[in-house]
Formats: sequence, C-alpha cells, structure tokens
Amino acid sequence: MIVFENVTKVYPGGNTALQDLSLHIHKGEFVFVLGHSGAGKSTFLKLILREEKATSGRVLVGGKDLTRLKEREVPYLRRNMGVVFQDFRLIPTMTAYENVAFAMRVTNIPEKKIRTRVPYVLKLVGLGEKMDCLPEHMSGGEQQRVALARALVHSPQLIIADEPTGNIDPELSLEMMELLSAINSVGITVVVVTHEHELARQFNKRVITIDHGHLVDDTDHGADLHNSKAEEPVGEVRL
Ligand code: ADP
Repeated sequence: MIVFENVTKVYPGGNTALQDLSLHIHKGEFVFVLGHSGAGKSTFLKLILREEKATSGRVLVGGKDLTRLKEREVPYLRRNMGVVFQDFRLIPTMTAYENVAFAMRVTNIPEKKIRTRVPYVLKLVGLGEKMDCLPEHMSGGEQQRVALARALVHSPQLIIADEPTGNIDPELSLEMMELLSAINSVGITVVVVTHEHELARQFNKRVITIDHGHLVDDTDHGADLHNSKAEEPVGEVRL
C-alpha cells in the first residue's frame, strides 16, 4: 500500500528531513509511525499526500509511483486516502452534515448520493444524532469523528490519522483508536502518526520509529502475515 525506497528529502535551504528511508506498509495493516518533534513525521505524511516530492528515492502508494505522478492525477490519489488532521480542519460555519457533504460536493457527486452517504458515515462514527451541530457545539472528540467521517466518505483504502491524541483527552483517544481498529478490521489500511510512545506501545500493532529522518526501529508484527499471504487482497469491504 505504501512503499518508501531509499527516500531522502532535503528542503530548500538544506534541512534534511528524511534520510535514505525504506519501508513497506502492506494493504490491511495497522501501523504507528512514531517519532519526536522534528523526526520527519510530517514530511513522511506530505510525501504520501504528494504535498512534497522526494529529493531522491521512490514513494509508491497503491502501486503508483508518486515521483512520476502528473499534477492532474494528484486529486485522484488524495481521494483514495482519507486523512484525519490533528486540527481536524472542519469548516466552522458548516454543520457536521455539511462538512462531510462538502467533501463530496467538490468532487461532483450527485446530491442524491450525498443525501444517503453522509448520514451513513456519520452514523458509522457514532454521530447520527449530531448531524446538524456546528463544530463549536461539539466536543473535541466529536469534531475529530466528523473529520474521520469526512475521511471515510470516498471509501478510501487507506486512512491516515495525524497525531490523533493531540487535541483530545485520553478517554476520547481510546475511543478514536477503537474506531480506527474497527475500520482496519474490514481491510482498510490505517497509519497513525504520533509522537506519543505510550499510545504506540498500548496496542499490539506494528510501530515504525523515525528519529532525525532515519528509520531506527520497526517492530513489524505483521511479518508472518506478509510472508504467507504477501499482498493477497484483503477482503475488500467498502465502508
Ligand atoms: P515532525 O513532523 O516529526 O515534527 P518534520 O517532518 O516537520 O518533523 O520536520 C523534519 C525536519 O525537517 C525538521 O528539522 C524541520 O525543521 C525540517 N523541515 C520541515 N519542513 C520544512 C520546510 N518546509 N522547510 C525547511 N525545513 C523543514
């Protein structure tokens, strides 16, 4: 699903954010990408989203080589992945329903489909009763779930959560992790980017640790799975 081959990213000005990073995140995996501030996590995310390009090496997502992707193909790439940003990035003047619907409208999906799809994903994240609420009338955890619903709306095969515990309290963090686990259990690849060791250690999942742009540890709990069923399609359930 995500392949980094000897990826180095040097920003203009000479800051090296990632250095010769190689990793393989398989379809259907649940992976933590762990690192201190400045380790290179945001750069890792930006390369996957093609907000930045690798200076050298290759980045592949869903079999597509992002270093060769044409600009006009970038929106399609992003539509196949759902990102839950740390600051949620909701539109404050729109209700939960409108925030999710907006993500569909910008891709010209017919209104009829939006009217059934939006309540479906909002119910999936437990917000069936809050569809008409504005973000300011929702808790941090609820706002985060609106962001998750929006990330799920295009049935992506990959969900990325950027510092999911950053803006909510510990109890709600656990709820979010359970939701992400449920999403993963139907075959969707989940990548959680975090600086919190405790969060990454709490769950028995693969943890990839980055430090100063280098991959310094990879627990790779899924090694057996990869070897026996390498890239075998996981039952594709479309949420
Ligand atoms: P993290 O998300 O783990 O905090 P980043 O990927 O943001 O790490 O940063 C990794 C390194 O790259 C840091 O040294 C940072 O200062 C540098 N960096 C990040 N973005 C830029 C940029 N746009 N221009 C120059 N240097 C940058």
